Amino acid sequence: MVPVIALVGRPNVGKSTLFNRLTKSRDALVADFAGLTRDRKYGEASWQGQDYIVIDTGGITGDEQGIDELMAGQSLQAIEEADAVLFMVDARAGRTPGDELIATHLRKRNKHTFLVANKIDGADPDSILGEFAHLGLGAPIGIAAAHGRNINPLLDAVLNEP
Ligand code: GDP
Ligand code: MG
Repeated sequence: MVPVIALVGRPNVGKSTLFNRLTKSRDALVADFAGLTRDRKYGEASWQGQDYIVIDTGGITGDEQGIDELMAGQSLQAIEEADAVLFMVDARAGRTPGDELIATHLRKRNKHTFLVANKIDGADPDSILGEFAHLGLGAPIGIAAAHGRNINPLLDAVLNEP
């Protein structure tokens, strides 16, 4: 079975940027506008001979209405479909109530979850650890999706875990 990895998190944390980097496609919409990827999107990727499927999602804000509610629904469905979840947070923005809401949901699910702090290019490593350890999902793995920083160690952790 090809493992399925879902990228979830608030809008604008860098999910589509990571998706594009993993799938090497430019298809997922990457924008400075929060919430542009309106539903989930599947891509094929491969790491050290291991094929996997990655799902990009529109994001969960925490107070959804209208289209946001739909996006959040898609994200929850992606979590159900996935073998592993990459829960992405924004290292520059710090921990937000939206992050806490998603963390609460993920802690209740029996899913292999990796907490990924993106945008470490603009953040202090110690404060990242301090902020996000409080989400109760272990220590964050710091990456910079836009610059390709620490992506390979992340994939090692996600795909080589039993
Ligand atoms: P999404 O809404 O979670 O899919 O977020 P996007 O992938 O659309 O990215 C939102 C914004 O964050 C864009 O302006 C990206 O260029 C920017 N971004 C993504 N990754 C990084 C990163 O590693 N460092 C910095 N500084 N910005 C990033
Ligand atoms: Mg997106």
